[in-house]
Amino acid sequence: GSTIGILGGGQLGRMLAMAAARLGYHTHIYEPGDAPAAQVATAWTKADYGDGAALAAFAGAVDVITYEFENIPATTLDLLDVSQSIRPGRQALSVSQDRLTEKTFLESIGLTVAPYRDVPDAGALVAALVDLGTPAILKTRRLGYDGKGQVRIDDSASAGAAFDAMSGADAILEGVVPFSREVSVIVARGQDGETVCFDPGENVHSGGILRTTTVPAALSAAQRTDAALLAGRIANALDYVGVLGVELFVTDAGLVVNEIAPRVHNSGHWTQAGCAVDQFEQHIRAVVGLPLGDGRRIADVVMENLIGDDVDRLPDLLRAPDTQVHLYGKSEVRAGRKMGHANRIVR
Ligand code: ATP
Ligand code: MG
Ligand code: MG
Repeated sequence: GSTIGILGGGQLGRMLAMAAARLGYHTHIYEPGDAPAAQVATAWTKADYGDGAALAAFAGAVDVITYEFENIPATTLDLLDVSQSIRPGRQALSVSQDRLTEKTFLESIGLTVAPYRDVPDAGALVAALVDLGTPAILKTRRLGYDGKGQVRIDDSASAGAAFDAMSGADAILEGVVPFSREVSVIVARGQDGETVCFDPGENVHSGGILRTTTVPAALSAAQRTDAALLAGRIANALDYVGVLGVELFVTDAGLVVNEIAPRVHNSGHWTQAGCAVDQFEQHIRAVVGLPLGDGRRIADVVMENLIGDDVDRLPDLLRAPDTQVHLYGKSEVRAGRKMGHANRIVR
């Protein structure tokens, strides 16, 4: 087909639309709110995710549907599923929408996750803290991102306050993993089941938000192989089509999976400067059934997110050598808001 439907019109949808355009495809964005992607897409349906008529018209206007965020309501998918294939498929969405389901799935395929307990009520939190000890992190099962919906518990006396901070949302408690570094692997799986990994990137967060990704990550050859194998195992188990982000903790006891994202991932933005085929084009290739790019890294890159006021440094960034600047076209600067990113080619 020649028109790709994209659910979600944020910066990831925007960069998917740009990659699709480069390969000669039209894109149609479905987004109820502000849509940075609409500036570059062929069409934009500005409608609610519960609007059955708008969803049906959207599905009828496109040849394949993909998405830039994992929290698409199941009811939206039900309405779309009847007429169009959704790639990656629904299993990837249902697994990654809920931290409890996600951890259960990852363990079921033999991977290691942080120690965790389901926390349906305040009593369960007290029991979970006895089991896992402190420090621990209480997280909402659904809808968290950029560290939102998480509270660190350093002392069991603060359990009540932490539980209240969840505002009644279902939660899980995770033990704090003693990691030496955080890395992520971006893997792509094609319709024929072929998988291609990008080189793992090393991630630095602050305040729960990704600040930088550096490639190559400081990993041993064995860790690199492990990372690629486990990402491929996840993609195969989900019968996945598209690009998948896998966040990992590096520990003395091996790699621990933090979480997965069934979409292009912020920690994969370095591929725009570091690979011939970046993660956005790779995703488009997979969902339309084209051969995948090779994923080979051709440069060392440091990707820096431009968050809130960081964009004030734009004049300097534009003058910096070997630096590629990406801006998302968001008019309003807000604290904690991702406004763009810079890819600096180191060598
Ligand atoms: P994202 O924007 O990546 O989706 P999120 O809100 O889903 O973020 P997490 O990835 O769960 O948040 O956590 C954010 C960061 O907090 C992690 O990258 C890591 O630095 C730290 N963190 C989260 N869980 C743990 C844990 N169990 N042990 C140690 N550190 C953790
Ligand atoms: Mg997350
Ligand atoms: Mg995360």
